[in-house]
Amino acid sequence: MRLSWRRTRLRLRAPFATAFATLSERELLEVELHADDGTTARGEAAPLEPYDGVSLDAAEEGLAMLAALVAGVDDADRKSLLDAAWASGAPACAVAALDLALWDLAGQQAGRSVAELLGAPSAARIAVNATIAAADRAGAAAAGATAVAAGFGCLKLKVGIGDDAGRVAAVRAAAGPTTSLRVDANGAWVNEPEALGALEALAPAGIELAEEPMHGVEALRSLRASAPIPIAMDETACDASAWGSGATDLVCLKLSRCGGISALLSAARAARAAGSEVYLASNLDGPAGIAGALHAAAAIAPIPACGLATLGLFADQGDPFAPVAGEIAVPRGPGLGLG
Ligand SMILES: [Mg+2]
Repeated sequence: MRLSWRRTRLRLRAPFATAFATLSERELLEVELHADDGTTARGEAAPLEPYDGVSLDAAEEGLAMLAALVAGVDDADRKSLLDAAWASGAPACAVAALDLALWDLAGQQAGRSVAELLGAPSAARIAVNATIAAADRAGAAAAGATAVAAGFGCLKLKVGIGDDAGRVAAVRAAAGPTTSLRVDANGAWVNEPEALGALEALAPAGIELAEEPMHGVEALRSLRASAPIPIAMDETACDASAWGSGATDLVCLKLSRCGGISALLSAARAARAAGSEVYLASNLDGPAGIAGALHAAAAIAPIPACGLATLGLFADQGDPFAPVAGEIAVPRGPGLGLG
């Protein structure tokens, strides 16, 4: 088999403000796995350096190591290849790209979707949240109203970016009382009193969960004990000791950080065994990452709303997995279903 990749640059429709950076574009690595039978399978590496500290150069170096591993291999023994990929020291996002491509290959060769290979029903639909990117009250409220009108039952806002309580209250007023609102601080609050104060100011709006209010397993465990809002870990969920810690009510899992579908499914099992619910989110992934996450979500459903409705944030391409009434249909085609 042969592994190849290329960089692709996607512009965001509007600047996306977070506590770690304001993003206007996003670069990804599109990966292809060329099998000896002529099948071309697709994957993707989606590092986001200001968020996860992994540069595109590091991801490409990882892909080069993985390309050397698969060269000369003529069958797709997923487990032994992935074991070797992890042993190579390649970053998780590069392992994820190979894992996605191996699942796509297996599905294409079997004529079945990845979800079916994972034992999930082929007609599954995954509830997703809308992401409110606007940083001002009026813009956020308008985006919230538009999302609710489109059928979303869950909206997610960034916090720790200024005027949080005012903006969240404006979105609550626009979205009505039955819409779930979740907030994501990306670790903006540096100590427990600051985090508690912020969460207490947000709680009257009725918040489903607060994602990554602080960084660190023990910081989150301690905060959860007195927080007025259920706590989720996201950035902190970077290895088994974190996602399997039971420190938070929920754990947000991402393909690029876990190392692909196979690793994400085992992370989900570990989190649930420790008493945490899981949901999935994109790392501003491209189509291959979103497709892979939809198949993984189908395999672990029922699952809370997932943060996978992010392709629409990009300006330059259509959305092959557009949400309808707040849900995305799991791709039906063979493999990842990228067509
Ligand atoms: Mg997050």
